[in-house]
Amino acid sequence: MQTIRTPSVLRQMVQSIKARGKTIGFVPTMGALHQGHLSLIDIAKKQCDYCITSIFVNPKQFAAHEDFEGYPRDVATDLEVLKSKQVHIAFIPQGDVIYPEDFSIHIATGAIGQVLEGVSRPHFFDGVALIVTKLFHLVQPDVAVFGEKDYQQLHIIRQLVKDFNFPVNIVSGPIVREEDGLAMSSRNVYLVPMQRRVAPLLYRTLEKIRVFLLRDKPVNDVLAQAKKTLLEGGFTKVDYIEVRDAHTLAPLESLTSSARILAAAYLGNTRLLDNLYIEF
Ligand code: AMP
Repeated sequence: MQTIRTPSVLRQMVQSIKARGKTIGFVPTMGALHQGHLSLIDIAKKQCDYCITSIFVNPKQFAAHEDFEGYPRDVATDLEVLKSKQVHIAFIPQGDVIYPEDFSIHIATGAIGQVLEGVSRPHFFDGVALIVTKLFHLVQPDVAVFGEKDYQQLHIIRQLVKDFNFPVNIVSGPIVREEDGLAMSSRNVYLVPMQRRVAPLLYRTLEKIRVFLLRDKPVNDVLAQAKKTLLEGGFTKVDYIEVRDAHTLAPLESLTSSARILAAAYLGNTRLLDNLYIEF
């Protein structure tokens, strides 16, 4: 595995891979790697000749009050993990390499970035779109793999690729969960044991919503009950819990198409994110 820290060296490597007619699969991450990330690497490796993984905690997608400074970082362990996964290139740039002092241009994701996650994190997806754009230019992947764990992000990246004509095939990987159902996340390390015990209730609640909706119970009643269940079960705050069209993320008036239940809820200061499909 090559560990690369600068765009110029990365560019040389990418050019030499392309010159040999080989394909590149790309998995962007913020590090603190877990099985969820590794499942995406497996997909990239299966689909392409070379796998490039980036580790970069992107400051542009954190608001001032969020956890940029405290975000879990363990690059040494991550590099060992990537090496054992036989990733070909790990790209681990420093902040000022990606965003030098005179960096100026930004991307606005528009309406799709303002709903669900975007309500409490209004600039989050603009920051995501910016880093993904930069990384796509640097890595020039044939395939980029993103997790369904961040379902709205996946949707927005597909739109970004379409709107900006990136020659990249976006592939998604299913959510990898702990045995008790909790979706794996780098932020799960924030949970103290009491919170960790409560955390799987989020997934169990999504599953219950699915069962009730498939039995034709009214959406609003089911969601109100779900919110109550989470709050009574120990969650401190429910940011949103909604049912949306799985393909467009438009609000669903009736459950006639494939749907996705999406939720974000707090355990103390830790915000958990999860989602589940409903196939009709
Ligand atoms: P992050 O490092 O949190 O920015 O995530 C990097 C990539 O891993 C994104 O495409 C995420 O959607 C994906 N990911 C994070 N957690 C999981 C999970 N539990 N299962 C599958 N993919 C995940």
